[in-house]
Amino acid sequence: MDFIRPAWVEIDLGKLKYNFLQLRKLVGDRKIIGVVKADAYGHGAERVSLLLEKLGVYALATASLEEALVLRKHGVSVPILVLGYVYPEALPIAAKNNVCVTLFDKDFVKRLKEYKGEQTLNVHINVDTGMGRIGIMPKEAVETSKIIMQLPKVRLHGLYTHFSTADSDLSFAKHQLTNFQNLLEQLREIGIRPPVIHSANSAAIINFKESYFDAVRPGIILYGLSPFDYPIDTFKPVMSFKARIVYVKKVKPGRSISYGRTFISEKEMTLATIPVGYADGLPRALSNIGEVLVKGRRAKIVGRVTMDQTVIDVTDFPYIHPGNEVVIIGKQGNEEINAMDIAKKIGTINYEIVSRIGKRVKRIFKEEEDGEEV
Ligand SMILES: *Cc1c(COP(=O)(O)O)cnc(C)c1O
Repeated sequence: MDFIRPAWVEIDLGKLKYNFLQLRKLVGDRKIIGVVKADAYGHGAERVSLLLEKLGVYALATASLEEALVLRKHGVSVPILVLGYVYPEALPIAAKNNVCVTLFDKDFVKRLKEYKGEQTLNVHINVDTGMGRIGIMPKEAVETSKIIMQLPKVRLHGLYTHFSTADSDLSFAKHQLTNFQNLLEQLREIGIRPPVIHSANSAAIINFKESYFDAVRPGIILYGLSPFDYPIDTFKPVMSFKARIVYVKKVKPGRSISYGRTFISEKEMTLATIPVGYADGLPRALSNIGEVLVKGRRAKIVGRVTMDQTVIDVTDFPYIHPGNEVVIIGKQGNEEINAMDIAKKIGTINYEIVSRIGKRVKRIFKEEEDGEEV
């Protein structure tokens, strides 16, 4: 008996393996940099990373040095690239742990010049070809590359860019690619060719093969979710989000349910409560409009989703009692609710739905060997 709250996330590592093999078919022998930031998009970065490493991933990418060091603590040994900011004081720690850092601000070169760590620090330059978030402008990247090439303890290991519209506007992505290729050509002319050049995120991996270069940086497709605003079936969702009913009651007409009394029963109803709320990542915006699966059927969320609990309508469902399983994301019988269905209902994307599932929801891993799909 597990003394846990009856709300959990199941991670099917067999599906992760399947997705990795599908990805491998798409990109051939290109290096794969698996993006495992934000706890592997809510899937549990340690287990995900260890499996990706076993499957032959070339490197992993995290958002922060902290995320990278947690992986090292759990025995992940492939190179890790930090995509975001690292304090200059922490650069020796990065180098010591075989963590590559991203240079995205030309002024940060000063900090690299001051670098006094024992190990060589590997740096990837992020070039802003049109993403407009972080990155060195292409015209400054040549000068910056030259400076790094001269630093004894710093190695220019990679150069990359990031697309802002690979999922929605390929013509702009092509414009970005051209900017990037022009820069690579300028560097080539002065004899600089960093070993690992990369640009493709999930959307570009699927529909923009020209952007592959030496390595690709998949995130969402590893987890079996679509990077587009429509579903795809090349990959299989890795995550299910489940709970058990903890309370069932019959209510008479005219009863109000949950905060703000936004739902009033119009007839006699059977309602059930699940121990999951917005602090667990069930968005409050689903109040009165969300659905979950019970006994293979869709049940509506009634009233406001609260921090820790949510009420659902199971009127006319076959006998419902505490302990019945509820699926928030995943399949039950012939029905399925995926992260995109939820996202569309509340005007966001599947990325946000899965990455915001709360820390207190226990992740349960189904071993990849048990996965029938592979
Ligand atoms: C998050 C991220 C990715 C992965 O994006 P997906 O759309 O999930 O594939 C790749 N590169 C960078 C720089 C990122 O920030």
